[in-house]
Amino acid sequence: MKPAPFDYARPADWSAALALLAAGARPVAGGQSLGPMLNLRVATPEKLADLRHLPGYAGVTQQGGTIRIGAGTTHAAIEDGAVPGRLGAILAGVARRIAYRPVRNRGTIGGSLAHADPAADWVAVLPCFRGEAVVLGPAGERRVKLERFVTGMLATALSPEELLLAVELPALPEAARWGHWKFCRKPGEFSKATACVLAVPGEAPRAVLAALDAPPFVVADASALCAAPEAEAARLVAALDVADPWRAAIARTALRRAAEAAS
Ligand SMILES: Cc1cc2nc3c(=O)[nH]c(=O)nc-3n(C[C@H](O)[C@H](O)[C@H](O)COP(=O)(O)OP(=O)(O)OC[C@H]3O[C@@H](n4cnc5c(N)ncnc54)[C@H](O)[C@@H]3O)c2cc1C
Repeated sequence: MKPAPFDYARPADWSAALALLAAGARPVAGGQSLGPMLNLRVATPEKLADLRHLPGYAGVTQQGGTIRIGAGTTHAAIEDGAVPGRLGAILAGVARRIAYRPVRNRGTIGGSLAHADPAADWVAVLPCFRGEAVVLGPAGERRVKLERFVTGMLATALSPEELLLAVELPALPEAARWGHWKFCRKPGEFSKATACVLAVPGEAPRAVLAALDAPPFVVADASALCAAPEAEAARLVAALDVADPWRAAIARTALRRAAEAAS
């Protein structure tokens, strides 16, 4: 199927991009999720605003202990080491397992978060890092904690007139331990359960369980999970009331394995 006809605009600066959104245009980044939606005609915007040429849209900067990743940074750039230090090594490992390289060459971290597919990798992993989404709208910039950014299936804290500018994450010490487990039937498929656990010395370990057709479930203090992965994973998943027994089983396994890896 071909998309319904639409106009295309390439704003040169952020105020032009916001003006396009205010007039009803839909932002497009890598087009790796929106493209199929256009082709299937589940999205029929009259105009697309292509964000890819906006200044500062892609790229990574560090200021003190905060690492800022522009929303337009591709999965491939992160895979190739654009993010420095221990955080970068962790994110590169996540990026490497998103789809295939041609998808990673175009797909962006911001597009993935804004699309908010509950099974997407950045949606599942980013709430583990105590970071923030930087959002630009008609009233200026605002910040949203990453654990509150995705609010439902394909739903976020963004209004239709706002853009995701960047995500900001704390740099991590080399001693930070990480466990990440994603269940895919074959490479390139969306996950059926993803869990991750981050243990930073001096802080309570943190865990996320995701890809269960719901927003990510964040465990702000995962000390009990790290101490007794099997029993605590079973208790946490039972409390989530996952409908399919097989999804509940892989969710328990994902959480247990991520906790074991981080411990
Ligand atoms: C074959 C295939 C396999 C895939 N497998 C995986 C996988 O295993 N794991 C995974 O996580 N993903 C997977 N994806 C999705 C891929 O990662 C996409 O790149 C990503 O979901 C969307 O990023 P994008 O930059 O292409 O966004 P687009 O498709 O351009 O946009 C997606 C949505 O976000 C909005 N948007 C984009 N940027 C912004 C912004 N800055 N501010 C506000 N709104 C914005 C758009 O309007 C649109 O609604 C797969 C895609 C394909 C085609």
